[in-house]
Amino acid sequence: MIIAIDGPAASGKGTLGKRLAGHYGLRHLDTGLLYRAVAKAVLDAGGPLTDPVGAVRAARALDPSRLDDRTLKSRQVGDAASVVSAIPDVRAVLLAFQRSFGRAPPGAVLDGRDIGTVIFPDADVKVFVTAAPEIRARRRTLELLAGGTPVEEPEVLADILRRDERDSGRAASPLRRASDAHLLDTTHLDIDAAFRAAIDIVEAVRAGRRRG
Ligand code: C5P
Repeated sequence: MIIAIDGPAASGKGTLGKRLAGHYGLRHLDTGLLYRAVAKAVLDAGGPLTDPVGAVRAARALDPSRLDDRTLKSRQVGDAASVVSAIPDVRAVLLAFQRSFGRAPPGAVLDGRDIGTVIFPDADVKVFVTAAPEIRARRRTLELLAGGTPVEEPEVLADILRRDERDSGRAASPLRRASDAHLLDTTHLDIDAAFRAAIDIVEAVRAGRRRG
């Protein structure tokens, strides 16, 4: 089974993806980490983020076994990721890895921006997770503070809005809800309630398929 989860920055899709994968015994890939790792490699090399040559080189050299580097989660790297991710050749290099990850048994949950639209348009289940920007900013701020990063909520909100605009406005695989994706708005849900709602979606799709 392949479950595609897409949604804007800090919508909770990563946490949801991990929990769904645990529940169904699937592998999990946070595809944002791929773009973050490319961006960090470009930043470390001192190159401009908008240079396709350097970014594609970094994408080709990516070591997917090293995605647990905590520095990938920083705000600066997240912002840089949304610049390199607009380069079509970077996306093309990362596409093959994402597809082979998802197709390997027993299947996977992938979360990102274009999983249901481009990477796995035939995913068994597609969920589009969203929440009001102010709520996403509040949650991300609390997460950063808990991890020891001093941060102000208005700055986090500004980051989120800027990234949403870049990710939705770019020509290459923009963030958008696939027409057959189930909408999960977590504005008024805590993580446990969001998880239960996601399970309900997956189970309803599976039941429909059995009947169908
Ligand atoms: O999900 P996360 O916030 O970690 O993603 C960082 C950035 O990587 C996003 O803002 C987006 O520009 C890019 N991204 C993407 N496609 C994906 C996953 C992430 O373009 N499938």
